[in-house]
Order: sequence, then structure tokens, then C-alpha cells
Amino acid sequence: MALTSPAPLLELLDNVCSEVREVGAVDSDSAAKLAFLCPDEYVAASSILDHQNPIKELVASDSGRSFFLVGSSTKKPHLSIPGFCTCSAFCHKVAARREAIVCKHELAARLAQALSKAEVRRMSEEGWANAFSSAWMLAMFESDGSFKDATSGTPGR
Ligand SMILES: [Zn+2]
Repeated sequence: MALTSPAPLLELLDNVCSEVREVGAVDSDSAAKLAFLCPDEYVAASSILDHQNPIKELVASDSGRSFFLVGSSTKKPHLSIPGFCTCSAFCHKVAARREAIVCKHELAARLAQALSKAEVRRMSEEGWANAFSSAWMLAMFESDGSFKDATSGTPGR
């Protein structure tokens, strides 16, 4: 099913994340909304939060810019910022076909932040820029061929 209006759905997701932050947990009401907005991604994001290495949030000290490193089944972590992720599911399902409003990594990062489960690292602007650059290079190019997959149009996770 293609989504016709992702922006309002993303607003709903923002609201759910705010509720999770206020309550300090994903209560049954939030869980039901997440299961409606992004069913597959919610299941997968919960698994990431429960079973994988802590999600890291790297924050630049002066500007407050941040990005997330989210573990994956392969060795390299994915780089995610709200509205973007380096995984192929983001490219195919979110960006190209709008079958989903977020990938599992972005959702896991949003929930980790709302639940204060992310491992926050603050760094200088220069350190942040370097960390972003190397995380991006690693995720996009120095991987097991997923950049090639992404350009050939083969769906993958
Ligand atoms: Zn992703």
C-alpha cells in the first residue's frame, strides 16, 4: 500500500514519540499507534532496542546537531537522522516507494531518544563533523556491497 500523505503521518509519529517521552515508556496506547503507523518497523525497532548494542547519539556541542548510529545485523552501524537513514530499506521503502514512513533504524533512534536509552556522546563541532563523515563513508561505501545493491534496484534490508 502506498502512502499518499506521509507528512501528516510523520507528525503523528512525532506526537507518539512525545507521548513516549512524557510517559517514559511505550504504553499500550502508544504501542497501538506505532503498530498502526509503522507496523513492520515497530516490531523491528523494538528488537533493535531490546537485543542490539545501545544506539549512540552523537551531539555537536555548539550547534546541538546530532546523528544516530544504529546497530544492524551486519557489522557496520547505520547512520540515521530524523528523515534519513543509510540503509537500503530507507532508500527503497521510504524514499522511493513511500511504503513506510520510517525505516526500523530511524524509528529505533527516535524511540531510544524518547526513552533516554540512547548513549549520548557530546563532542566538538570538528569532532562531530569528522565522526559524521567517517560514519557516512562506512555505511555507504565501505560495506559488503550494499551501496551496489542500492544502485541496482535490488530491495534489501
Ligand atoms: Zn535504516
